[in-house]
Amino acid sequence: MVTDYKYFKKKLETEKELLEKELEKVGRRNPDNLSDWEPTPPEDRDISQADENTVADSIEGYEDNAAILETLEARYNDILSGLDKIKHGTYGRCQICGEEIEVERLEANPSARTCKQHMNTK
Ligand SMILES: [Zn+2]
Repeated sequence: MVTDYKYFKKKLETEKELLEKELEKVGRRNPDNLSDWEPTPPEDRDISQADENTVADSIEGYEDNAAILETLEARYNDILSGLDKIKHGTYGRCQICGEEIEVERLEANPSARTCKQHMNTK
């Protein structure tokens, strides 16, 4: 096993923290399921100066947030899954063929689930 778990664990943890900060800007954790995030609804924002325009803006903002959140959440879950694999000693293995994932690929994307050969396989 050439994969340096400690090194990639640190990378994943750093990325997880960054993502949590990003996620908190556009959403909040679902209190019933902490790995699930939901976009912050407009009524939770400061709309004290609300007129028709700002209400429309905040609805638009909500839709944007939902799209951003979806992307961030997918990335976040990949990282959680990477950390989970480190815990179970299965990190760095391709989900398709079970071979070790190239180190430079993990370097570019520590939460990669597949080797280069299978990177486009769903
Ligand atoms: Zn593979």
